[in-house]
Amino acid sequence: MRRLIAGNWKMNGGMAEIAGYAAALREATVSADLLVCPPFPMLERFAALLAGSGIALGAQDCHAAPAGAHTGDVSAGLIAECGATFVILGHSERRADHGETNAEVCAKVQAALGAGLTPIVCVGETEAERDAGEAADVVKTQLRHSLPDGFAGLVAYEPVWAIGTGRTPTAPDITAMHATIRETLLARFGAAGEKISILYGGSVKPGNAASVLALPEVGGALVGGASLNAVDFLAIAAAAPPD
Ligand code: PEP
Repeated sequence: MRRLIAGNWKMNGGMAEIAGYAAALREATVSADLLVCPPFPMLERFAALLAGSGIALGAQDCHAAPAGAHTGDVSAGLIAECGATFVILGHSERRADHGETNAEVCAKVQAALGAGLTPIVCVGETEAERDAGEAADVVKTQLRHSLPDGFAGLVAYEPVWAIGTGRTPTAPDITAMHATIRETLLARFGAAGEKISILYGGSVKPGNAASVLALPEVGGALVGGASLNAVDFLAIAAAAPPD
């Protein structure tokens, strides 16, 4: 399986950094697919700089509606027009900062699919939920209500307590949760559930990428902080096992 290494720039970076970053990615040869998800205003420029490279571009959110009175929001259709083909949805920072519910995430997923985008739907437990032994149930509930029937996209398992903290779950814990996610997808979608790639996200760095990416059912990584630096991002991608 060829891994996908997706960089989530969050609300970071400036226009001056785009050209150098895109050039570094274009020049690299790695055994993984690359995806960059910068802030909305950078999409069109990134699309031009990455054109023909095979490196994919994504947004970090979209609105569920195709257009309308939604100040500050961006439609899936416009994201696609800007040259993106992926969109991250249901990231824990959006669930926490904007109160996004599973139902809202599900509506956004449908909008993304309708616009021809591939959604990456984030799920993951808080530290309190893990300590209470509820992690698997929380993730199963998020999957049940965030993914619409006929879902065709990716899932990212991102334990909230591992994001931006430098802490990661143990290898057995990642393996167990990815197996739980796979079982849930198979039970819901049948054979189509086998095709849904499951990324791991949460403090993936060059130093731990090889061990994380080698785990069963880990189809790649969603990388926050370490994606801001092209050298680190590419080192993570270089750590992916060959298909
Ligand atoms: C993320 O925000 O999706 C993420 C995984 O962040 P970090 O890699 O910085 O933990």
